[in-house]
Amino acid sequence: MLETPVLVAGGGPAGATLAAELGWRGGACLVVDDTDGTNPHPRANMAGQRTMEIFRRWGLADQVLAASLPADYPIDVIFSTRLTGIEIHRFSLTTPKDFANPTPELRARLPDVDWSPYFKTQIGQNYLEPVISRFAASFEGVEVRHNWKLVDFAHDPEGVTSTIEHTGTGAREAVRSRYLVGCDGGRSFVRGKLGIRFAGRGALAHNLGIYFRSPGFPQSHPLGRGTLLWTVAPDCRGVFIAVDGDQHWTYNRYFVSEDDPKDPREQVWQAVGKKIPLEVLSSQPWTGYQVVAERYRDGNVFICGDAAHLFNPTGGFGMNTAIGDAADLGWKLAAVLKGWGGPGLLDSYEAERKPIGVRNTTEAAGNFDKVAGLMRLPAEIEEGSARGDALRADVAGRVSGQKKTWSASGMHLGYRYEGSPIVVPDGTPPTPDHPQVYVPTTRPGSRTPHHWLRPGHSMLDLVPRHGFALLRFDAVAGESPLATAARRMGVPFSEVRVEDPEAVRLYERRYVLVRPDGHVAWRGDAFPADPAAVLDTARGMQPQTHSRSKPICPNSPPSTRKETA
Ligand SMILES: Cc1cc2nc3c(=O)[nH]c(=O)nc-3n(C[C@H](O)[C@H](O)[C@H](O)COP(=O)(O)OP(=O)(O)OC[C@H]3O[C@@H](n4cnc5c(N)ncnc54)[C@H](O)[C@@H]3O)c2cc1C
Repeated sequence: MLETPVLVAGGGPAGATLAAELGWRGGACLVVDDTDGTNPHPRANMAGQRTMEIFRRWGLADQVLAASLPADYPIDVIFSTRLTGIEIHRFSLTTPKDFANPTPELRARLPDVDWSPYFKTQIGQNYLEPVISRFAASFEGVEVRHNWKLVDFAHDPEGVTSTIEHTGTGAREAVRSRYLVGCDGGRSFVRGKLGIRFAGRGALAHNLGIYFRSPGFPQSHPLGRGTLLWTVAPDCRGVFIAVDGDQHWTYNRYFVSEDDPKDPREQVWQAVGKKIPLEVLSSQPWTGYQVVAERYRDGNVFICGDAAHLFNPTGGFGMNTAIGDAADLGWKLAAVLKGWGGPGLLDSYEAERKPIGVRNTTEAAGNFDKVAGLMRLPAEIEEGSARGDALRADVAGRVSGQKKTWSASGMHLGYRYEGSPIVVPDGTPPTPDHPQVYVPTTRPGSRTPHHWLRPGHSMLDLVPRHGFALLRFDAVAGESPLATAARRMGVPFSEVRVEDPEAVRLYERRYVLVRPDGHVAWRGDAFPADPAAVLDTARGMQPQTHSRSKPICPNSPPSTRKETA
């Protein structure tokens, strides 16, 4: 029987992120994925700010940027009747290059430049997945097996016994693990076997994604370069999505109907408005949802990513929420396996992430409802008549009020773990949770704010790889009582002093205790009266389980990379 601390079923964005997070923190796992490791269809196409910050923590952000759209490619969202038809509205946001070196004009127009080192990183899921996967597999403790499928499991109080099967030969092996995580997508076998149901709105619309290659595509229409090109004429309701900004694009056709041409090429030509050279690389039907699983955990089994929630892509939250789940569960599993995390840490996964699943799926579905209103327009929308002008003006008016759908920094950065059992609240009221506007704050449960300390060095980089960090904005000499308590308790901990005046202002309190995932566990202007209690809360050590949990795998050296990596 194979043995591993964590069996991860599924190697998509959630499974690969979980494995990377575990490996990076010196943990071990076995990932089984029933594909050969290549999914040529892009599906998701945007890594949000927080996702990029997770990659930054691992030192992977530059590799992801290198695989994304060119730095001078405009992040523009354009609405037209069809690509060679009439332009209706456009949001010109910025380019990655300008975002990285903002002028005062850009800063005034797009405050997002001060909220994160990153903006909307346009990258096809087919380009992103291999980058995360390779990084995960580079760690000594991580084994990734493609063409292996989880076909059965049974869990007990001590762990999980699973059966995995080779998709080609049918060979089977038994795996004993302490934990099993179902990162096995929307049709999750793990969720199904646990009998966990989805709740919410199902089947918002049936759609078709067509991934194609077309040399000279950007020159085939007058709209110029953009990341999302929406077409709203009644026979071509959908959106073109830039995959490499040049020849490779996806066309998502919304509300497929019996009247649509059967040949996907005809559908693309309709939306372009003329025949262009075109090779269809793949086409996949897909359905939008607004559903979240009732539970994210059953004993030693967890679900994560699309296994736990399904989205409509409007806003680009599905993959980003999946990666956020995996990053949250990853540090908690690593801490428990190392022995310094308490049992409450694993319970906090659902307590923290399910509300984010509900928040994000709700916003995406609200965006869908607005977009859907643009997908049922009369044919006169294309007329050069007063009626056509009026229809287009109406659409432009409606679209211009939807900036939050395309520039959703508040969604990506402003989520907070309200009421989390491992966060010490300070009684301050929550900052507004606005989809577009992020309000920097260190209120407990929030992500710590970004600020450039010097070129290339963000405040986000101060959180060390292992354990908690106390950010100190004081002039008091010596070790803090929190550091002393952490040493006695065997909790990895470091202190960082910051004098930068803007950081002092931004971080609002003299002491900010940051968790390994960059969220605030506690803050105050004086040291806590009972520092051990604060740390016990933050590491999920409930009062009745005060003793340290038994280490399941010994403290291994931090994240050894394989030599072949
Ligand atoms: C058309 C479309 C557009 C989208 N656009 C966006 C976007 O712009 N932004 C965004 O954030 N999200 C978007 N999404 C959503 C995004 O693709 C998903 O949220 C994301 O893929 C979820 O990752 P995951 O790892 O949870 O699941 P998946 O990507 O589904 O990965 C699950 C993996 O597990 C494997 N597997 C399944 N069962 C088993 C088993 N029993 N054993 C072993 N392996 C198994 C599967 O083969 C797969 O490799 C879009 C989705 C679609 C369909």
